[in-house]
Amino acid sequence: MRNERRSGKLAAGLAHELNNPASAVIRSAKSLSEDLVAADPHLAAVRTVRGPARRECEECVKIAASWVHLRTCQTCGVTLCCDSSPNRHASKHAHASGHPVIASAEPGER
Ligand SMILES: [Zn+2]
Ligand SMILES: [Zn+2]
Repeated sequence: MRNERRSGKLAAGLAHELNNPASAVIRSAKSLSEDLVAADPHLAAVRTVRGPARRECEECVKIAASWVHLRTCQTCGVTLCCDSSPNRHASKHAHASGHPVIASAEPGER
C-alpha cells in the first residue's frame, strides 16, 4: 500500500502546480533570464533569480497566520505565501504593486 500513498502525494503536488497560474510565469521568466546570461557574460555575475532572505511570509508573520508554500518577488525581493496558502500574499502583492514575477522559495520547486 506504500505505492498508493506515494502516488497520491505526487498527484497532490501536481494539482498544486496546475492550480497555480504563477508557475507558468516563473518558468518563462526564468528561461528568459537564463538566455540573457548566455548572451551577456557580465550578467552572469548578477543574481538572476532572487532567493528568500528569510524562509517565512512577511505578511503572515505580522498577523500570526500560517502558509503552505513561499514565493519571492523578483522585483523587490519580498518573500510571501503562494496561492495554496490561506492568505495568498504573493498574489495580493503582485496585484497591489504591479510586480509580475514571483519565484518559488521552495527547494526543488522552480
Ligand atoms: Zn502570507
Ligand atoms: Zn515586489
